[in-house]
Amino acid sequence: MALNLDAIGEKIGPIEKEYSWRDVILYALGVGAGFDELEYVYEKDLKVIPTFSIATIIDFLFELGAKANVNTAGILHGEQEIVFHRPIPTEGKFITTGQIKNYYDLGDKGAIIVGESVTKDAKGKKLFTSTITIIGRLDGNFGGKKPPKKTIQFPDSDPDFVVEDCPSPDQPLIYRLSGDLFALHVDPEFARQVGFKEPIMHGLCTLGFACRALIKTLVPGRPDKVRRISCRFSKPLYPGTPIKTLIWKVSDDKALYRVVNAKTGDVVLDMGEFEFGELVREKIDFTGKVAVVTGAGGGLGRAYAIELAKRGAKVIVNDLGGSRDGTGASKTPAQKVVDEIKAIGGEAYPNYDNVATKEGGENIVKTAIERFGRIDILINNAGILRDKSFAKMDPDMWHGVMDVHLNGAYYVTRPAFLKMKEQGYGRIIFTTSAAGLYGNFGQANYSAAKLALVGFMNTLKEEGEKYNIKVNTVAPLAASRLTQDIFPKDILDKAKPEYVVPLVLYLVSDKCDVSGRIYNAGLGTYNRVVIGTGPGIMLSEKGEVPSPEKIKENFDYICSLKDFKVYKNLTEQLTDLLSSLNKKPDLAAKGESTIFNSPNEVFAALPKAFKKDASKGVDVSFLFKISGKSGGEWVVKISDGNLDITEGVIDNPTTTLEMEDKDFLDMMNGKLPAMQAYTSGKLKISGDIMKSQLIEKLFKLN
Ligand code: NAD
Repeated sequence: MALNLDAIGEKIGPIEKEYSWRDVILYALGVGAGFDELEYVYEKDLKVIPTFSIATIIDFLFELGAKANVNTAGILHGEQEIVFHRPIPTEGKFITTGQIKNYYDLGDKGAIIVGESVTKDAKGKKLFTSTITIIGRLDGNFGGKKPPKKTIQFPDSDPDFVVEDCPSPDQPLIYRLSGDLFALHVDPEFARQVGFKEPIMHGLCTLGFACRALIKTLVPGRPDKVRRISCRFSKPLYPGTPIKTLIWKVSDDKALYRVVNAKTGDVVLDMGEFEFGELVREKIDFTGKVAVVTGAGGGLGRAYAIELAKRGAKVIVNDLGGSRDGTGASKTPAQKVVDEIKAIGGEAYPNYDNVATKEGGENIVKTAIERFGRIDILINNAGILRDKSFAKMDPDMWHGVMDVHLNGAYYVTRPAFLKMKEQGYGRIIFTTSAAGLYGNFGQANYSAAKLALVGFMNTLKEEGEKYNIKVNTVAPLAASRLTQDIFPKDILDKAKPEYVVPLVLYLVSDKCDVSGRIYNAGLGTYNRVVIGTGPGIMLSEKGEVPSPEKIKENFDYICSLKDFKVYKNLTEQLTDLLSSLNKKPDLAAKGESTIFNSPNEVFAALPKAFKKDASKGVDVSFLFKISGKSGGEWVVKISDGNLDITEGVIDNPTTTLEMEDKDFLDMMNGKLPAMQAYTSGKLKISGDIMKSQLIEKLFKLN
């Protein structure tokens, strides 16, 4: 079993976890709170110990381990950092996504896997960011780089505060109910097998004790003021051992801490950092950035330009200054907006070029470079309308609109993209429209141009990815001269362009890391639009071309959007398509991805899945004890290339595996990674634990 080094950057999650006040209290009890901190354990005026967050999303750690393919028998939690963006609510939902950030090689001491996750609430508000370090004690020497040296200079003086505490001998039994069911903290036999004299405290439980101590001393009664906490888990601690949290306050908003075993003086949590104070929202700031906004002489473009300048950007205000249908030209609109920006102390420069020509596009970008030295942001916003029902739409109407919206975006984006590529940074916005996304009578030209921009973005986001160029598309809804005779007056009154601005500004900021997305924005509502692809159906058997009648029969399956996917790019879609070639047509027809419906089916399929070559010299017997309605007992014996499967039990099997039927089927159908099943306690393994890892090598089920 080797680490999966290609997994860096692959998305993990979303992992969703709903919780109530009971979970908050259970956690508090798990980390030693009691009557003297009633605010953590009584639902009346309940407060949340912020480290509750990480305990509740512990599945992320297991999924991280599974993604990295770390050897479970050697897994340890190395370091933990949590940065809080908002106070943790007393009930709600955590939605966590993350990825492996890095691998480091510790040689004989193992490997380090660093994972990062962001947890949001059900409304998409960012709650906290976690950086987790796992140590895979059995995965070292893979040829990776050494970890960067991390040091924290503790003051030479005695700590400013010492908080004594004593986890109970049963502490892990309560703590584990918050989510970390790993056998190491409950099963004496398992603990002995992996080298401990008895089950040990969860490192994160000790961190919870430390967090209580830090809050008590530095922000009493205000757990909502914890901004960041981090530590290294340096030594195991047995339950019932008294501890001391040693705290050095190094500034008005920061302390360093250690937790020591009060009996031996051993440091069990080291390099602790604790930052506190009001939680500040990360400010979106454009100081040092140069932005080009096309069509910024009025409407939405003006609103973008002004807010960008207010937040520090240097802005090129482009506008041809023509009429609504694109005829004519005037310098006044762009100049007026530049004057407005200057009047409020911002920096801006006008440009009067036509986006719909190659020279115009080039000159707009050149103006930015000549005036301000670079271009970080491009908002393609210029637009005109030439509406008519399609029957009356002559080529002038068609081409005029295509020229400004689609070709104009091309002419400006190309020179901008080249410069951004050179800089290794860029943010580009295309402006689409609900007319293009959904259709609108009398706007065939405009709809076609506006949706073409989505295709343009889809590819540009791929080409820009390597250079940190993010490209997104926004469909605004706002009162402007373009919409004054389209929307009713009461909508126009409420549709200030300013409502669209915050989303666009976030998307062009360096805080935004999404690319290739489409959003609606208007009237204070913001939502995402996707191009979704249904699961579909494989209708070709043995390469034959299906008949139109077969299409008709299966049309409901073809049209179904159940469990639709949003593909990142063509390759992802093609990979799915090609994998359907291996699906049996009937399985695909039912839209099923699972194969096994009972443990019996699994064991019946094992002989076919057996990899005889891999079993040379192997002599093992696995006893499967599957509980539940469809459960039973099976013995799988492998002896030098021979496989023997029988129902029942045997004495002294090499390894015994116990599971509930439902979990067993999830695991066999690829829905539950084996390692996650094990670490979460769904799969119990006794006997020779290491031999269980042979199963994946000896059988290929899917
Ligand atoms: P607007 O007419 O106020 O702004 C468009 C600006 O683009 C004008 O100032 C115009 O002079 C300028 N312009 C037109 N052709 C140009 C060219 N060839 N070169 C340079 N500048 C040019 O209208 P708005 O509503 O603010 O529209 C901004 C963008 O938002 C447009 O792309 C529009 O299609 C899109 N949009 C607006 C809405 C809405 O509800 N307002 C809805 C969907 C999409």
